[in-house]
Amino acid sequence: MTEQEIIIVRKPTAEVQKLLRAIPKVDAFLERAIDLAPDVPALLVKSATRKILEEKRQAILAGEHVSPADLTIEALLPLFQKQLNTQLAPNLKTLINATGVVVHTNLGRSLLPKIAMQAIFEVGVRYSNLEFDLATGKRGSRYSLVQDLLCELTGAEAALVVNNNAAAVLLVLSTLAAGREVVVSRGQLVEIGGSFRIPDVMTRSGAKLVEVGATNRTHLRDYEKAITEQTALLLKVHTSNYKMIGFTSEVELVDLVSLAAQHGLPVMEDLGSGCFVDLSRFGLVKEPTVQEVIRAGVDVVTFSGDKLLGGPQAGLILGRKKIIDQIKKNPLNRALRIDKFTLAGLEGILRLYFDQEKAIHEIPTLAMLTMPLLEIERRARRLLRRLGGNLAEKCKIEIVRVDSRVGGGAMPEQGLESRAVALQPLVMSINVLERLLRKASLPVIGRIEDERFLLDMRTVSDDEVVGLAASLRQVFGA
Ligand SMILES: *Cc1c(COP(=O)(O)O)cnc(C)c1O
Repeated sequence: MTEQEIIIVRKPTAEVQKLLRAIPKVDAFLERAIDLAPDVPALLVKSATRKILEEKRQAILAGEHVSPADLTIEALLPLFQKQLNTQLAPNLKTLINATGVVVHTNLGRSLLPKIAMQAIFEVGVRYSNLEFDLATGKRGSRYSLVQDLLCELTGAEAALVVNNNAAAVLLVLSTLAAGREVVVSRGQLVEIGGSFRIPDVMTRSGAKLVEVGATNRTHLRDYEKAITEQTALLLKVHTSNYKMIGFTSEVELVDLVSLAAQHGLPVMEDLGSGCFVDLSRFGLVKEPTVQEVIRAGVDVVTFSGDKLLGGPQAGLILGRKKIIDQIKKNPLNRALRIDKFTLAGLEGILRLYFDQEKAIHEIPTLAMLTMPLLEIERRARRLLRRLGGNLAEKCKIEIVRVDSRVGGGAMPEQGLESRAVALQPLVMSINVLERLLRKASLPVIGRIEDERFLLDMRTVSDDEVVGLAASLRQVFGA
């Protein structure tokens, strides 16, 4: 038995027993607590009460310093109030992303424009034609609501949307290749994170992975040699989250398409963060757009709705009608289907793309990625002005040059020049500052670099500056 365990099983001393007896009875405490929270359901008042009384009991048993004065109802009521506030606050709450990572998977990936949110709100509070064809009065398909939009925007013959891109990849492989072989380059067996690995998804789909080429170089002849009677599909995975440099080569999609055509096989591309807009004119690296991939003759392409597209979480599957029809009939499709909120949000986003300039301005992900440096600087200065006053005594504040990131596993090498408000606290350590900001009533997430806490203003919207300043003042007690 360790020393710790001995302490726990030891019979409480008379002193401890006396303190335990001094803890108010639940009923007595509740009588007073109810008055403090007249509109809160009794169940919540009770559970908050039990929680703080139990915490005191544990503290006494653990030998922490507790005096009888700490155990009066008066002394405990503020703790109760705090506990109740914690329990009443939503678990999923908004915060300020000052990391400069635009597509931040942990912080909700893409922000939707108001027009898409309005569409989601409307279908949430009213009935809709989700699966009802208003033209014929018969049962309709939810997918038909966005299929035509997707085809017009990309040139694809048909389209289907599921829960996310991981689901899309699984569904396509399961439909086209279960029990047969899929040829993939060794350089493209990617892990996306959160346990999504191409080889594992392949196993789940029932398809057999045939790796070709070397880690750094794969040639067309490698694919050619791997094609057998058992081959169902040639798969290209866009290596969106890492970059191989040096002596490397991968086969171009068009070449893969012509090889597949010679053997009567389909080609699939998992594009990861599919984008409809060529962002290279804003100084970002050239990524193949969805339209270009379709034009190159791919039979089926999948990508996320909430990465560079800037929409809700979804997995988009575009391609030849014959293949999409087959996928629609796969029973897995029902298990992976999207809900009406996603559909409403996605439709809202897609309609914006008919005017690319409008899309770039109104879709937050694109607006943040293409934001002029002057605009970021203006926001940084606005925050600085808001912070003024006596905060300067507690923290050194300046505007510094930083690099933002695209995020979402897209364009890993891409640094986007940005501006951050850098904080060097004088009254606390940098790690304490990080923790206090994270726990503020409006949490602020930034990053620590070179002993400074950086607030990258690219991902802080104009209407968040006031709240951000308030969180900072709260943390510094200024
Ligand atoms: C992100 C990504 C996925 C997974 O997409 P989710 O929408 O997050 O499920 C799959 N493949 C690639 C290449 C990706 O970049």
